Amino acid sequence: MSKTISILGATGSIGRQTLDVAEQLGLRVAALTANSNAERLEAQARKFRPRLAVLTDEAAAKDLAVRLADTDIRVLGGPEALLEAAVCPEADTVVTAVVGMVGLKPTLAAIREKKRIALANKETLVCAGQLVMDAADTYGAEIVPVDSEHSAIFQCLQGCADRREIKRLILTCSGGPFYGMMAEEVGKMTRADALCHPNWTMGPKITVDCATLMNKGLEVIEAMRLYRLPLEQVSVVIHRQSIVHSLVEYRDGAVLAQLGTPDMRLPIRYAMTWPHRADNPAEPLDLLACPPLTFAQPDRDVFPCLRLAEEAAEEGGTACAILNGANEEAVGLFLAEKIGFSDIPRLVEAARAAVAVQQDPSLEDILAADQAARQAVLARA
Ligand code: NDP
Ligand code: MG
Repeated sequence: MSKTISILGATGSIGRQTLDVAEQLGLRVAALTANSNAERLEAQARKFRPRLAVLTDEAAAKDLAVRLADTDIRVLGGPEALLEAAVCPEADTVVTAVVGMVGLKPTLAAIREKKRIALANKETLVCAGQLVMDAADTYGAEIVPVDSEHSAIFQCLQGCADRREIKRLILTCSGGPFYGMMAEEVGKMTRADALCHPNWTMGPKITVDCATLMNKGLEVIEAMRLYRLPLEQVSVVIHRQSIVHSLVEYRDGAVLAQLGTPDMRLPIRYAMTWPHRADNPAEPLDLLACPPLTFAQPDRDVFPCLRLAEEAAEEGGTACAILNGANEEAVGLFLAEKIGFSDIPRLVEAARAAVAVQQDPSLEDILAADQAARQAVLARA
């Protein structure tokens, strides 16, 4: 059970909801970080009184220091300061809610300090899952997933003494805003269309990933790393209502699922209270008011990002870091309206073809693969 938390990415969608949960559970806050949003971080720091507030953008950090000059909160700037927030001694739990590969080094630093990692930042596990999970084993750090599907699986695995009893994990997928469209129609979708998710309100990068189904592909890799299972044991099913958050099929044929309203505060709360549960003021799921629950196959031809992610997962080594780096870069270009929607899978596929995969990579190899993939995308955009 967490008592004092640090949040990396406090101003974002997951960060803000984590602070809601922290307030409800009466948790203390040791450190808060963001990239450049000084105004919001100031408001959060005044309310939760952390020891440390960090902005990775140096100019924004200077602004924050002026804003918080009348408090005893320490303000730091720059990427190194993110590491300092990750190892802040008062915290027993670090919530990794930054977006992208930038979360990798701070996550590893927090693991080395034996913090509980409440892991939202899936890109970290996608790029360096093996290193992260091995480090967690070595240092005895708990990794508790925040991603709703992985939290559902984590909950369905409580009491499973032997992982060989798992037949497969079934990740549910809303299908995103373009579900049911033909490839040609999907290709015409704009930034505004992609940012309209049917069931969840999230940061812009993950919302675009949901529209391409890359998010589900990243989640397949995340599940493989978290639960140390091969690709054959992780499948995806479309479930438009986002009520069943994911399922575990056991060898005896039993299928366990976790259901709930689509509200990220539930998995965030569980990552804080595990192995216990705490009262939740939100309305519980009303089964009688639920729409009919439906399940269908994803279409990997219309949404090639899912296939690309599965191929990278199969290949292993730095393939997933290349996939992720290329995707982060391509989504950035799409959000800046410099490329079209169907350019995202095209550029990811091209980067995968251009950058050689290395097996058994070190952290340096992974960082180099990420950079090479980004360059490959920029060269072809
Ligand atoms: P947001 O874009 O809403 O928030 C991102 C946070 O990270 C902000 O605090 C932002 O600061 C900070 N940040 C962004 N870039 C950097 C950087 N280069 N260096 C340091 N900090 C940075 O993202 P979400 O909350 O939606 O997602 C966070 C993570 O959680 C992602 O990995 C996502 O995949 C995962 N996740 C999110 C879910 C959701 O419902 N939102 C569900 C499941 C997983 P600033 O505000 O200053 O820009
Ligand atoms: Mg998810």
